[in-house]
Amino acid sequence: MGIQLTVEPIEETLDVADGQTLLDACLRAGVWLPHACGHGLCGTCKVEVLDGEVDHGAASPFALMDFERDDGFTLACSATATVDVTIEADIDEEPDAVVRQVRDFDGVVSRIEHLTPDIVGIWIKTGEPVEFQAGQYLNLHVPGVERPRAFSFANSPSTADEVELHIRLVPDGEATPKLRHDLQVGDRLTFSGPYGRFFVRRSHDKPMLFLAGGSGLSSPKSMVVDLLETGCDQPITLIHGVRTAADVYFDDTFRSLEAEHPNFTYVPALSQPDDAPWDGETGFVHEVAERRFDGSFKGLSAYLCGPPVMIEACIRSLMKGRLFERDIFTERFVTEADGESAKSPLFKRL
Ligand SMILES: Cc1cc2nc3c(=O)[nH]c(=O)nc-3n(C[C@H](O)[C@H](O)[C@H](O)COP(=O)(O)OP(=O)(O)OC[C@H]3O[C@@H](n4cnc5c(N)ncnc54)[C@H](O)[C@@H]3O)c2cc1C
Repeated sequence: MGIQLTVEPIEETLDVADGQTLLDACLRAGVWLPHACGHGLCGTCKVEVLDGEVDHGAASPFALMDFERDDGFTLACSATATVDVTIEADIDEEPDAVVRQVRDFDGVVSRIEHLTPDIVGIWIKTGEPVEFQAGQYLNLHVPGVERPRAFSFANSPSTADEVELHIRLVPDGEATPKLRHDLQVGDRLTFSGPYGRFFVRRSHDKPMLFLAGGSGLSSPKSMVVDLLETGCDQPITLIHGVRTAADVYFDDTFRSLEAEHPNFTYVPALSQPDDAPWDGETGFVHEVAERRFDGSFKGLSAYLCGPPVMIEACIRSLMKGRLFERDIFTERFVTEADGESAKSPLFKRL
């Protein structure tokens, strides 16, 4: 018999393959554990090892401190087991969450579009529908790159047989330059998913504010389109922050959604306007949000997606405007460089 993993307090026991992380084993068995970055950087998937031993793998010393290792904690996204293990996880009941088993998919690149000078849109046609909750992400295997890279679904779940990704070029990165410069229509790509707990809390039934930075428009696009397609009476505001007018993308899509749906407001905003004509908002996303809402965010649900620095600034503004942890949901595009500060000092737990 192989290695067995028991998850408390839900008393689920499942098999773990040699070298497979505890998180991967759980998600593929349909057992949901909290997780976010998937690479041992953010600490969201911290669990207590009640019995047995684990190898902590590549867990960052900032996300899993020495004293936590000594006290028997580990990060499920990096830990592997060689003997039977029992863990205790903090599994919150989320009425709006749809738990789907993580699976492997493959598909063919059906379209590539240069959306801005540094963001490329990639569409992947899959032979079968990829079911996910709007806001979630996938792990993409990029040919020639060892570890998969996380990218959020930008399509709405209604177009489940063609995945859409918005990929920002990280100039000294390993994977994104390959996706930007080498990928061709017709190439095959593989990925696994769906991952993550960034999704709309419909049961909260409040006006919604989406704050997106750069290619962090991906998840909010999926979430907003899904809300409008499936019916939503609450006011929805999307503020998309970019640097210059050339960095604005899917402007037409959002403007036609705005024309069709009186409850939807779209606000693109430039933080570094240049000489190109622009009569819209200027400033950072959080500054524009403060202006639009007169500094008061009470009674809203906020969904933030993009680089950690933008998310921290937005959380600060929202909290100053009387919106607190239970109504703020984030998807941060964490990278290894962000490892030290991946957890928000403003939130108790993410
Ligand atoms: C849950 C999740 C969802 C994501 N969704 C998206 C998405 O929809 N669209 C998107 O464009 N990106 C998204 N990202 C970020 C994306 O995963 C990274 O930008 C990508 O993995 C970089 O890969 P790379 O191989 O090119 O860079 P790497 O070789 O991994 O990194 C090279 C260097 O650049 C730094 N770096 C890497 N990524 C970034 C970055 N984004 N910003 C600044 N510095 C960076 C690294 O720390 C390192 O120093 C998401 C990340 C997470 C965790």
